[in-house]
Amino acid sequence: MKILIVEDSRSNLMLLTEYIRRLGATVLPAESGAAAVASFDRERPDLVLLDVVLPDIDGFAVARRIRASEKGGDWTPIIFLSSLGKDKDIEQGIMAGGDDYLLKPVSEVVLGAKVRAMGRLIEMRDSLVKLASELDKANQDLQRLSASDGLTGIANRRYFDDCLTREWRRARRSGSELALVMCDVDHFKKFNDTYGHQAGDECLRRVAGAIATSLERGSDVAARYGGEEFVVLLPETPLGGALIVAEKIRRAVQTLNIPHSASSHSRVTLSIGLAATVPERDNAANSLIAAADQALYEAKNTGRNRVVRFRGQKTEDRGQI
Ligand code: GH3
Ligand code: MG
Ligand code: MG
Ligand code: MG
Repeated sequence: MKILIVEDSRSNLMLLTEYIRRLGATVLPAESGAAAVASFDRERPDLVLLDVVLPDIDGFAVARRIRASEKGGDWTPIIFLSSLGKDKDIEQGIMAGGDDYLLKPVSEVVLGAKVRAMGRLIEMRDSLVKLASELDKANQDLQRLSASDGLTGIANRRYFDDCLTREWRRARRSGSELALVMCDVDHFKKFNDTYGHQAGDECLRRVAGAIATSLERGSDVAARYGGEEFVVLLPETPLGGALIVAEKIRRAVQTLNIPHSASSHSRVTLSIGLAATVPERDNAANSLIAAADQALYEAKNTGRNRVVRFRGQKTEDRGQI
């Protein structure tokens, strides 16, 4: 323990130093208010014993400066040692940031007991700080876990739904375009039937990875929508830009070259539907999903392994670019 002793009387300082050393603590002496503040800033002691009447700024001002220099959550106990023993002196000391107020002359036993009591408070504070930071980390982990899909590690449906609501409102406010890309693995039931469920899981992980790495902007969000369906939200992206991203995704999955003997494409492929809009109403985000879904349906019906964009009431097949 490092204790800053602020005392302008040499004899008192020597006596207090003696007491504190016998407690096994290290002493930092200061004989003026300015020296005390400078030593506190430099050494960050664990405890301050603070005289009130000093040659320059008084002890109350020193306490206020110490409190002002502490950063959020920091706390160093301050015990005033003074011969000023009126109620208002004690009150002033506590108001200035002191934690205890002892009248001079202080006996070695009382000082030792007070220092130990403050030591216990410091330990308690330290363990609370540690606990708070562990709790903070646990909360972050929990937040991450509750937002991610257990199988693939990318965002889950719940996280996506929140993003869609948020981005829909943002795009509505700014009048920008919001695009949504819906992807579905082709003939995935047959893949499971042929290679087994575990191979199916591994395939979904790799497809998720290929989708996620096809995105370049930090604001793009890829999520597992459910089963073998994935969704990508592209803020501030018109249909043309979304088409490029969707085609990149389709190609990325195709070039994973995961064998699929039961598919006419002989490897794992995606069908992709996409839609983009400038949101005009609140609470209509689902219409964007429905539009992308309709385009996806079209992609399935026109041969799979392709990207189809939604255009008004009808969809347009982009085939394989
Ligand atoms: P389509 O080309 O028309 O999309 O055919 P499909 O077989 O992919 O579509 P369908 O919706 O009939 O089947 C989806 C299959 O995806 C059914 C299910 O066995 C499989 N599946 C869904 N979730 C998982 C999963 O987490 N792991 C594995 N291994 N398979 C899954
Ligand atoms: Mg003094
Ligand atoms: Mg499906
Ligand atoms: Mg499918």
